[in-house]
Amino acid sequence: MAKRKSMSSKMAQRKKPAPKLDITFCCPFCNHPGGVSCTIDLKLYVATAVCYVCEEFYHTTAHHLTEPVDIYHDWIDACEKANQGVQLQAPDYQKRQRRVGSDDDDSDA
Ligand SMILES: [Zn+2]
Repeated sequence: MAKRKSMSSKMAQRKKPAPKLDITFCCPFCNHPGGVSCTIDLKLYVATAVCYVCEEFYHTTAHHLTEPVDIYHDWIDACEKANQGVQLQAPDYQKRQRRVGSDDDDSDA
């Protein structure tokens, strides 16, 4: 019979207020270092990254674990996807619609 009495009720491991993380990043559009700043609105669960230089911005969903760097990476991902999408779609988009002439003899209304 093993006694299990290891009650470790230590609440000491509380999360410290994190040292200020980087909240400014290099803009993916104008490449301005530190041009992008991120804000997180936990009331609306919206995260915003905006470049004050070229005024590009990006919105994404946020939660209490979202870090500014997450928003930024989301933005970069979105940019890359958008770029790929444009490249892939452009040549393929020439859809020719040919219509066979319809013979509708609708005389006498
Ligand atoms: Zn910019």
